[in-house]
Amino acid sequence: MGHEYELSSIERIAEKVGLLSSRSDDTTKQRQGRDPDIRKAGNGGLASYPDPEQWHDWLEYDSSGEPQNYSLVPTACFNCEAGCGLLTYIDKETGDIRKIEGNPEHPGSRGRNCAKGPATINQIEDPQRILHPLKRDGPRGSGAWTRVSWEEALDDIASRMREAIQDDRGNEITYHVGRPGHEEYMDRVIDAWGVDGHHSHTNICSAGARAGYGLWHKYDRPSPDFANADFILLLSAHLESGHYFNPHAQRIMEGMQEGGELATMDPRLSNTAAMSDYWLPTQPGSEAAVLLSMAKTIIDEEMYDELFVRNWVNWQQFLDQEHPGRDRTFEAYIRTLQDIYADFTPAYAEQESGVDAGKIEKVARKIGKTGSQYASYIWRSAATGNEGGWQVSRTLHFLSVLTGAVGTEGGTSPNAWHKFDPHLPNEPPRQTLWDEIQLPPEYPFAHYEMSELFPYFLKEGRGEVSVYFTRVFNPVYTYPDGFSWIEALTDEDAVGCHVALTPTWNETAYFADYVLPMGHSPERHDIQSQETHAATWVTYRQPVLREYAEREGEDVEFTYEANPGEVWEEDEFWIELSWRTDPDGELGIREHFESPYRERDGDDPAKMTIDEYYRYLFEQEDKLVELAEAEDMTPLEYMKHHGAFEASTNDYELHKEPLDPDVLGEDDVWVDDYGTIRRGEKPAYASESDGSEVLGVMVDGEPKRGFPTPTGKQEFYSATMAEWGRDEEKYTLPHYIKSHVHPENIDYEDGEMVLVPTFRLPTQIHSRSSNSKYLEEISHNNPVWIHTKDADRLGLETGDLCRIETDIGYYVNEVWVTESIKPGLVAQSHHMGQWKIAREDETEIEEGGDSYGKVTVDLDNEESQWGMRQVDGIGPFESTDPDSERVWWNDGGVAQNLTHAPHPDPISGVHAWHQSVTVRPAESDDYYGDIYVDTDKAFDIYREWLDKTDPSAGPNGLRRPKWLKRPIAPPTSGEDDAWYRDGPVGRDVRWDAENRTTVAADEQSDDD
Ligand code: SF4
Repeated sequence: MGHEYELSSIERIAEKVGLLSSRSDDTTKQRQGRDPDIRKAGNGGLASYPDPEQWHDWLEYDSSGEPQNYSLVPTACFNCEAGCGLLTYIDKETGDIRKIEGNPEHPGSRGRNCAKGPATINQIEDPQRILHPLKRDGPRGSGAWTRVSWEEALDDIASRMREAIQDDRGNEITYHVGRPGHEEYMDRVIDAWGVDGHHSHTNICSAGARAGYGLWHKYDRPSPDFANADFILLLSAHLESGHYFNPHAQRIMEGMQEGGELATMDPRLSNTAAMSDYWLPTQPGSEAAVLLSMAKTIIDEEMYDELFVRNWVNWQQFLDQEHPGRDRTFEAYIRTLQDIYADFTPAYAEQESGVDAGKIEKVARKIGKTGSQYASYIWRSAATGNEGGWQVSRTLHFLSVLTGAVGTEGGTSPNAWHKFDPHLPNEPPRQTLWDEIQLPPEYPFAHYEMSELFPYFLKEGRGEVSVYFTRVFNPVYTYPDGFSWIEALTDEDAVGCHVALTPTWNETAYFADYVLPMGHSPERHDIQSQETHAATWVTYRQPVLREYAEREGEDVEFTYEANPGEVWEEDEFWIELSWRTDPDGELGIREHFESPYRERDGDDPAKMTIDEYYRYLFEQEDKLVELAEAEDMTPLEYMKHHGAFEASTNDYELHKEPLDPDVLGEDDVWVDDYGTIRRGEKPAYASESDGSEVLGVMVDGEPKRGFPTPTGKQEFYSATMAEWGRDEEKYTLPHYIKSHVHPENIDYEDGEMVLVPTFRLPTQIHSRSSNSKYLEEISHNNPVWIHTKDADRLGLETGDLCRIETDIGYYVNEVWVTESIKPGLVAQSHHMGQWKIAREDETEIEEGGDSYGKVTVDLDNEESQWGMRQVDGIGPFESTDPDSERVWWNDGGVAQNLTHAPHPDPISGVHAWHQSVTVRPAESDDYYGDIYVDTDKAFDIYREWLDKTDPSAGPNGLRRPKWLKRPIAPPTSGEDDAWYRDGPVGRDVRWDAENRTTVAADEQSDDD
């Protein structure tokens, strides 16, 4: 039995008199899609939301009883990855945004938001925000800035890019993004530049989980159907603060209200664990052992879905390649599974995890009995915390495979089934280079770029960067070992020009050459689509003041004309920058930024406007065209008005889609021994496109779409891993790799403990909430969680200062003594602790510091030794906002990440965040927030982890399996030289990984 939601007596009465609609009716309607009846009301009436028909002219009363006339313009939240809908209320009298609420037209968020959505208004009104383009006016990092025009900034940056591209050093242009929030816009731009210049933050975030999912079916993210699930397993505090937080939380609650049960693995008793039917407080790093024990129970007790496994798993290939002596029968496969996982008994899982064996077995049986309506989720947590964490998502997905819950109603689908794939105007061909600083030879399976190692690669001399864009990206604060980032960013030989595109001041922008102000969510264009449930939706993020101005009949050429100050947006910025990089069109860049609608005027091309870009994109979507026609609008007008549309719903079991049977009659198409339908000559299982192309799978004599893997099936066995020399079971199969923080590696006797630094606060936005008074008032510190027993042992009480010693330094923070964490661990939220530098000299333009959430620090540096001490906390300050004088808190938290050493997992490349630390009471001269780090030690640890990798090339000198995902990939056939070790690297030098040295770009390393 699951939760039976009990209505309160007030709710029951409210339902009866119709103030609340019936809960079960609501749930059904929500599952089916939006329900217009629950919000419709006349002006001034009682309703959940104004009806879209009234959005251009909406009247409501404010708290003083005065009527307010608004124009309501939708946009999309940018304060996490979920892309929920927002509705801005623009005061028609002042033309200002008065408040921000949810957009009921958005199929993912359905009018609801978390605290961070409405708090967008604080970011817009931030009294210290950057309003104009700035250029440094002194040494990098000196804090001296001068205001420049957009023209001046664009011309300078464009000329540097042009020089690099003309010199065949195109890969010295690097775009590094923190929060993307768009669909393929930058892929198109970077392809147009013809460089391999994309870095993301994935490597410190979801790379571990992605690698595990990717090995199963290429799709590297899960899309659970929580609302229809009967049993949900979460690895992390997902319900309260997870990825796609608000859209997922709504649907988890719906599933539970309908009787679904929830289990959560987390070493902390988070609010999610507290809401669960089963809490499994696992020892960090033991999760794969627990999941395999569950798999063993399901196999031994024959609870698996035989039909699904038989038809859709590459078990025949596994038996042929790893157990050729056994019969190639399904029964032999099951017996082999029993042999392989024989040691993963519930008792062993208990020994590894500390979770009661009976509880593990019980949850396993629940999952086994639930079958296809079992949904699960992991994004970061254990997959990101541990060396070998990629096996956590791989073993988690194993349970979905065994129960036949892949792609089913109530199960977990591949993300791409629920994500929009836009058709873009003037698409450039794919770029044809390989950037070894992004995907180096040591990490052929990295998901994706090894951005965590960027400063060490520069220090090691693997190359340099001519133009480095950081976009809503703040590695000095968010990445481990931020001081090594400062060293890299202040080395002007290594980083020629650093351009920070950011809506807020941050620790990385302090070390830029240009700080270019970019808009918050209501100040910019983008589209976004996320796999929040079994449907595909698209939302339109638009600059609402521009849209309002246009509604009022004004002409706006560039978005910065309508935004505060000269705040711009990336979309228009990239068009202008690309145009100036190739002013005469000789580099082949400019043509991709020409209007898809207006003809050239002689030799004079027409530059694409941002409206033309989105008009083109929206006009390609049949469903949107239909919806727009029904309202007598163009697709662009529809999106400007509604802010979102649903492209499809109930997208389940797409792997079963039939293929045209005629394909089987084509000359070069054949079906291999395993039922895989192929085109071409040879079945190269790992390096797919070096051999035959996979078209689908034969199931019961019918050709089906299948999965995009070398076998077209779910890959229980990875021939790819074996081909790359990783032929042990711990690589080729779902398995358990003991973490670097396994208890065997922790010297508890000597005071060592495991630090879990990965959990999220639901009211914080990495480095973009320190300017939000609402959010900072709710949470403004990140104490160290410590169990009562450990606190007693160390003589610590809540509020006492402790010193946490890491491999490269230490930090000082206060403790929170609690029973809500396993003994032997300490935990600290990865938010909080943002800082600004105490400047001695007055400067013409003051570097901003978000006074609601950034403490002021003294930075000390001598060679590789870095120290930081907080000299001023948070407090009231004068500004245009009277609330700024009412700030009552003085704490801003502690920036722990600065003291973390680099731990790149040798397979997935993800930074393994958990670490062994020593916890001691603070010393007499320690102050709250003190930090000390030695970056030489960090470099040594980088080298130690690099020693765990194998830099050998793959089959035929391949750099990486072609079939695995990678952003902005070079072509996989035709002009595919970049995929091979001797291909073009877009730099003067290439990296000889065997000898750890660079060689001229036209030379080869020994192993090629
Ligand atoms: S979950 Fe919250 S922060 Fe994230 S997009 Fe939705 S409203 Fe914004």
